[in-house]
Amino acid sequence: MAEPRNALVTGASRGIGRAIAATLAADGFRVLCVSTREGGCDDTLQECHRAGGEARAFVCDVGDEASVAQLAETVEREFGALAAVVNNAGVTRDGLVLRMSTDDFDSVLATNLRGSFLVTRAFARGMTKARAGRIVNVGSVVGVVGNAGQANYAASKAGLIGMTKAMAKEFGGRGVTVNLVAPGFITTDMTAKLSGEIQKGILQTIPLGHFGEPKDVAAAVRFLCSDAASYITGQVLMVDGGMAM
Ligand code: NAP
Repeated sequence: MAEPRNALVTGASRGIGRAIAATLAADGFRVLCVSTREGGCDDTLQECHRAGGEARAFVCDVGDEASVAQLAETVEREFGALAAVVNNAGVTRDGLVLRMSTDDFDSVLATNLRGSFLVTRAFARGMTKARAGRIVNVGSVVGVVGNAGQANYAASKAGLIGMTKAMAKEFGGRGVTVNLVAPGFITTDMTAKLSGEIQKGILQTIPLGHFGEPKDVAAAVRFLCSDAASYITGQVLMVDGGMAM
């Protein structure tokens, strides 16, 4: 039997990342699941196994260069070049600009934008050498339309769009595609923090009339990692129930 193709998914301990991991495992990828905590991906591994796939867990802070270098060394030694990288790890530290601390700004950029850069840089060499690979960044509708109280988060996700397009141009000649999936409001721990009042207001802006589920985002990532998407690069795929159009 052929060796499974390896897909690395950051932020795989819960929410959207867990759904992406399980979906790629069901598609036959060996999924390398990353989160910041030892044991953080235990439930995800079980889901991947239930989906009939193989999965392994790794601890890494994607915003930390040494931590990413360590991850890349371990993964490449054990599994060689990756077929896919999904930069899904993300955080919010919301606040109005006039009250936002520099640390709140920097830390969100460090995980969401710098983290995706560091992880991609660490694994792209193997992909370009293999002349094949899929990189999918998880952005946000907020990176496209902005959102009061999320200047740091919006900047990080808008930055990811520019980075996706730049990398798509750099890696295109080497057979590596780079795309971004931009979720709208998806029911996870991240959005559970928002008050009922805020959730009600957001619901009114969604043409499809309901919040999304992690599996909705996972389906888009699965498509971009599949052979069916081999001629698609540098694109932003909105998975937002029509919030931004
Ligand atoms: P979530 O439930 O809060 O999960 C976040 C994941 O990121 C966790 O697995 C967490 O791991 C990981 N993570 C956080 N900081 C990390 C770091 N420095 N290094 C490595 N992993 C880290 O979030 P979610 O709702 O599933 O969101 C996933 C992605 O979708 C994010 O990029 C988010 O911005 C984006 N998104 C979400 C929504 C939404 O409505 N939920 C909408 C648009 C975009 P630990 O368990 O170790 O903390």
